[in-house]
Order: sequence, then structure tokens, then C-alpha cells
Amino acid sequence: MVVVMEERASEDQIQRVIAQLVDWGFDVHRSTGALRTVLGAVGGAQQSDPRLIELLDGVQEVVRITEPYKLASRTFKPENTVVVIGDLRVGGDEVIVMAGPCSAESEAQVEATAAAVRRAGAKVLRGGAFKPRSSPYSFQGLGEAGLQMLRSAADRQGMKLVSEVMDINQIELVARYADILQVGARNMQNFTLLRELGRTRKPVLLKRGISATIEEWLLSAEYLLAGGNADIILCERGIRTFESYTRNTLDLCAIPVVQKLSHLPIVVDPSHGTGRRDKVAPMARAAVAAGADGLIIEVHCDPDHAKSDGAQSLFPTDFDHLMAELRIIAPAIGRSICLEPVARRGWGV
Ligand code: PEP
Ligand code: MN
Repeated sequence: MVVVMEERASEDQIQRVIAQLVDWGFDVHRSTGALRTVLGAVGGAQQSDPRLIELLDGVQEVVRITEPYKLASRTFKPENTVVVIGDLRVGGDEVIVMAGPCSAESEAQVEATAAAVRRAGAKVLRGGAFKPRSSPYSFQGLGEAGLQMLRSAADRQGMKLVSEVMDINQIELVARYADILQVGARNMQNFTLLRELGRTRKPVLLKRGISATIEEWLLSAEYLLAGGNADIILCERGIRTFESYTRNTLDLCAIPVVQKLSHLPIVVDPSHGTGRRDKVAPMARAAVAAGADGLIIEVHCDPDHAKSDGAQSLFPTDFDHLMAELRIIAPAIGRSICLEPVARRGWGV
């Protein structure tokens, strides 16, 4: 249940409500909005009577959350969540672009790609060091050496870093290098991993599973939130359908659906969503027009020789062109985006 406190509820009144809920066995998550405090009570005794809470001083109303996910729902938190990472805000007015190679392959490849995407206006470097490949014979990533390359390139370019963690044993290592921990589509329902990431205090980019409904995806986010990690970014990356022309079917309708159901920011991955380089820019433009809070795009300095996902990786010049188009689209729907290519602002390489 959600307990909405009155605007002028005192701290003592809030603490009394929390104490009662804890006494009933609930886990209480507090959300302090601009106007009032909202308490989300999850778990607990089913027979607890909400009317007893309603009678307590300072309580405005008690709402039963009918959705199976509670903390991820808008009923619990009506305002949008903004994930703050240093000077970066995901879920605010600005559309955040994350870009980089599918995998870190060499220092030269990571550096050249990072410099190119930064110049074009990306603020987060993407790149995998642990790769979830469909075949055990495909390139599996460079591990810690890859993370080192990605971190130094991100630092040199003044970027944040998002990188995938595939297993609970890798969390500590990846968290040492990355600013955002990516949970890949194949791991969306790895509940052991989700529980462990719920205990960390690093933002998590949670990709939608290849055959997951939006409700299942939000329930996976709930695992992270219930563990106490509030910094969750959802990522729509396409789902498996009967269509075989594209690698996946990018569900852009998930953007308005998620924005109605949840307060969490949502970014879109048009690279895995389409699997084809020539389809990435149209879908990226559409995602921004549909209200995505950001994009995550694969770019490679030499995609034809990429060790993974070359066919869907943009050349730096394509990415540059796409960013110029996004600078027209974002303001048309009241959003901002990194306005000028970095070199022109004089911070670039
Ligand atoms: C990736 O981002 O490179 C990746 C493997 O993504 P997904 O988990 O969406 O397939
Ligand atoms: Mn990839």
C-alpha cells in the first residue's frame, strides 16, 4: 500500500506511521516529493487494515497499489525519477546519448571511437568487457583489460561509462570501473543478479528481456528498487517477434506505456533493436520524438572489422549526422540535447 502524508505532516507523524507499518512486517520505502512525503509499504501482513493507518495524524490517504510492482509504479512516486551521476541527469529535460562500441577490443579502437562519439555530443561511453554471446565460440570480451581501456578513454573524454555485468561475481569489478551497470536482455530475469545489484549504490541500466512483457520488465526493476537501489534506468532494446527482417522488433510504444505506469527513466537501444546499421538512425529519431529520455547506440571506428555487432554499428560520420538531426527533433518536443559538437565548444580533441 501507499500512504500519502498531508502536506504539513510533521516528522513525528511520519515516524509514527512508519513504526506502525514496520510493526505489521512491512518494508517501508520513503519518497519525499516537492509537496509531500509518500510511504510505500511492501511485503507485510495481508490482513493489515489500511483504515487503521488512515486514522493516524498527518495521513491524507492510503492507496492500495493494484499493479504487481509497487515501488516502480507511478502510484508510489508520481514525479519522474531523475538518475543523477555527477553532472549528468538521466530522466530530466535533456535527452542523454550513450554511444560506443559493442565491445572493447583494443586500446586504439576504444580511444578512437570514444573520441568520435564525444566530439559528436555523446555524454556516456558504452562498451562491453563481458559479452553475453549467443554462441560460446564468439568473442567473449576482454574482461578487466577491457574495463581499463574503457575507463581511461571515458576519463580522457570527460564521459561517464556504462558497461555490462553478467554475473554476481563480476559486480565488484565492473562497479570499480563503470558509472552505470548494464543488465543485459538475457539477464533481465536473473533474479540472483538483480537482488545483488539492488544492494549496490551504482545506477543500473536494465534492458528489457527478449521476450519480456512490460509488466515482467517492471517487476525486474522492482527487485532492484526493493533492494534499496533507487537509480534505475530502463532500456527498450527490441523484443523477439515473428518478424525476421530485423534482428528484433523495437517496441517504441513501450516508451509512453512505461511513462504512464512508472516514474523510471527509459532509454532506447536502436542498435540491438534493429540489428541493421541503416535502420538505426530512423529508429533513434523516432525514439526521441516519442519521448525517450535517452539513447544507447553502437558506434565503431571500423565496424566492418568489429569483433561483435559490426552490422549494426554506426560509422562515426553516421553518428555525427544523426546527432545533428536529434538536435532538431529534441527541442520540437520540449527536450534539450547536447547542443553543439564538443570540438566547437573548445573542449574537444
Ligand atoms: C549490448 O549492449 O551489447 C548487448 C549485448 O545488449 P542486449 O543485452 O540488449 O542484447
Ligand atoms: Mn552489442
